[in-house]
Amino acid sequence: MKIDAVELTLFAWDDIPPTKYTSGAQNQSGKSNLALLSIKTDAGIEGNAFLGSATNPAETDAGALIRFLKPILMGKDPLAREELHAAMRMRQRNMGLRTVGACDTALWDIAAKAAGMPLYKFLGGGRSAIGAYASSQVLESPQAYAEEAQQFKADGWKAYKIHPPHPASEDIKVCEAVRKGVGDGYTLMLDSTWSYRYPDALRVGRAIERLGYLWYEDPLNEEDIYSYVKLCQKLDIPILATEYPAGDIGTYAVWLTERATDYLRGDIPIKGGLTTMLKAAHLAEAFHTTYEVHHGGNSANNMAQVHFACAIPNTTYFEVLLPHGAHKYGVLNDIQIGKDGLATAPKSPASAPSSTST
Ligand SMILES: [Mg+2]
Repeated sequence: MKIDAVELTLFAWDDIPPTKYTSGAQNQSGKSNLALLSIKTDAGIEGNAFLGSATNPAETDAGALIRFLKPILMGKDPLAREELHAAMRMRQRNMGLRTVGACDTALWDIAAKAAGMPLYKFLGGGRSAIGAYASSQVLESPQAYAEEAQQFKADGWKAYKIHPPHPASEDIKVCEAVRKGVGDGYTLMLDSTWSYRYPDALRVGRAIERLGYLWYEDPLNEEDIYSYVKLCQKLDIPILATEYPAGDIGTYAVWLTERATDYLRGDIPIKGGLTTMLKAAHLAEAFHTTYEVHHGGNSANNMAQVHFACAIPNTTYFEVLLPHGAHKYGVLNDIQIGKDGLATAPKSPASAPSSTST
């Protein structure tokens, strides 16, 4: 089997609700665009993926994918993922890893289709569903967070994660209000989006430790490993870092050798695809810890990632980032969380969209 076409089709994405997580990750214009990637083969099997998100329009990466990655892929065996992934990563100095992530996802799609299996089974998974958590955007008041968390709890979702407004004193108020709203026993997490210096990180960490939160995500800048080490030593609550830096498997090593995080984390666009994620999940397994899957930024990535999360034994919950209108677009039969609180992997061989709604 050989790759005989690499095509990108850009399509508009309008009517995105105002969305904000950090000052660097937001969309207030309501507009973005995605691209459907099609990697075609002489065997008639086509692999698909999406490029882009509500906060990173595909048009910013599309040219780089065609210019730098298409020549690497054309004429090659699509099942030689390790070789192709290594060759594509060599172009990191020319472009971001989001393009590599899209191509890698499409190659896994080809492999699962060639095997005639849904991706989770092709990856060795024995389950087809995983508990989901609702992951907030920045909301206007502690009460707004508490009400949202109560609603998701009532709807059967397994957990709720806060992206807080900052500063730290306000974040503690939000965490207290949400705990009070959902009661003891409901699973809560905090993602502080790399926002604190060490003293605030410690103060917030101690507060959510007291409130019984499950994990404390990205309190400090991802370059501040020195302070992450101190924080890990001081706090009992597990720290979840490594969503950033962007990079391949090698970026995880220092976090483990320095004991700067308790859990590992990653996704398709930031880490460059399922190939890296699978290695990182196994690396976490070697340290008897978990690999938590970050939301994928678009519907196709999230569908591939639910297959992935079902296939690895050492992950906790599946992230569904809010609001839905800023993350679900362009596929038929998108992931829906039922009253059982589960995200379910489709049983068909296609792990990514072969048709779009636009
Ligand atoms: Mg995060």
